[in-house]
Amino acid sequence: MKKGLILLFTGNGKGKTTAALGLALRAMGHHFKICMIQFIKGSWQCGELEALKRFEDLMEIHVMGRGFTWKSDDFNKDKQAAQTAWQFAKQMIASEKYQIIILDELTHIIKLKMIDEKEIVAALCAKPKDLHVIITGRDASELLVDAADLVTEMQAVKHPFKAGIKAQKGIEF
Ligand code: ATP
Ligand code: MG
Repeated sequence: MKKGLILLFTGNGKGKTTAALGLALRAMGHHFKICMIQFIKGSWQCGELEALKRFEDLMEIHVMGRGFTWKSDDFNKDKQAAQTAWQFAKQMIASEKYQIIILDELTHIIKLKMIDEKEIVAALCAKPKDLHVIITGRDASELLVDAADLVTEMQAVKHPFKAGIKAQKGIEF
């Protein structure tokens, strides 16, 4: 049986966004069309943005958040950016232009109540039937876990950050 899946990579360990990107790489080998939407923008220029320019016929990446929310100056501006990103994501989901859509850090948007959780879950459940949707982010809500077909929780056993090693090029960004 073939079925478009909802895959959720959550937990406090490293590897959620990179797992989504790894899956995208695998799928591009089968000429899948992929759209990635980043709900929270990091403060560094991530390597994947540059690398994916080589795959622009297959994959697009839209950085739509305003930056780390915990460093933010203005919650309302963040909320507005999140809502714009979500409206865009809904259009992409309905467009039937892609085989995979990645909603990176969507869990935070739900946790911060920037968008109604029920609305998100309803839109995911109404997605085109062959479309795979990948969601990443810590603290996935119960409703999101229920809606997903696959849930992997990354567990932080060790992270160099705890030993005082800062984010490094090619590993963290
Ligand atoms: P990656 O993008 O490397 O796959 P991630 O998507 O799992 O990481 P996020 O929660 O999006 O992780 O966090 C973003 C940044 O925080 C990444 O640079 C990541 O390396 C770092 N990070 C992830 N887990 C931890 C941790 N347990 N302690 C400190 N930093 C972490
Ligand atoms: Mg991430």
